[in-house]
Amino acid sequence: MRIANLSGRLVLIVDGKAVDVEQAGDGSFSADPQAIFEQWEVFRGWAAAANLPEGVDFDPAELGSPVPRPRQTLAIGLNYRGHASESGFTVPEGLPPVFTKFGTSISGPVTQVKLPAQGKTDWEVELVAVIGRYSENVPEADAWSHVAGLAAGQDISERVTQLVGPVPQFSLGKSYPGFAPIGPWLVTPDSFDNPDDLELRCSINGEEVQKGRTRDLIFSVPSLIAKLSAVLPLLPGDVIFTGTPAGVGLGRDPQRFLTPGDELVSVVEGIGELRQTFTA
Ligand code: ZN
Repeated sequence: MRIANLSGRLVLIVDGKAVDVEQAGDGSFSADPQAIFEQWEVFRGWAAAANLPEGVDFDPAELGSPVPRPRQTLAIGLNYRGHASESGFTVPEGLPPVFTKFGTSISGPVTQVKLPAQGKTDWEVELVAVIGRYSENVPEADAWSHVAGLAAGQDISERVTQLVGPVPQFSLGKSYPGFAPIGPWLVTPDSFDNPDDLELRCSINGEEVQKGRTRDLIFSVPSLIAKLSAVLPLLPGDVIFTGTPAGVGLGRDPQRFLTPGDELVSVVEGIGELRQTFTA
């Protein structure tokens, strides 16, 4: 099952077309995409059995984030060995570094993003997991049942702001407006042959810069849910950016950063793509 946010309204994506959930459900479900996670199990049951009307065509640029207003966004650093190495850090043990991307940075899948003046804005394609029910002290073996769905994400990162000061402060440099595109839709875990092994890649102006597989995550999605929910409850509709594989601009020699006019395309296997263009 795929759900999306079409012009601010919750839709099911069926055969590439959008079915309005509030209308198809005769008002049983809110049109607000963020509200659905509060009644996720009921919604899933309804969607599986419903006789849905024919959907409408849409332009991906009309999509917003399928999770527009999560109460908590947890983002994971250094979760692939190759990326930890290129960043000059050791591989985390026990707990990975965790930061947030503040709510105003979240956007839909197809956007224009203004580059901050510092000049060191970088790319990080990531798998995003969205929580589907209250999650506290979840055992790793049960963790997938707490995931509503998966999406592609870009953890766009301004490296000057991220690394300035006596200690790195990841959250701020990763939270400029539009720095957290999510989408193009949310795909339920049962839609994948193996949700623990998905290819992710991104390219700039057609040149591939990152390519990895989520089987190489140091902390898998279930492991992250177990470790994070042992510290704090994860709430329905919360977002986890799971970390990026090798190939970011900071780790290149010479380093490379996004420039005005660049088009960044980020793809996760079995989900779809994000498309960001950058302006000065
Ligand atoms: Zn990241």
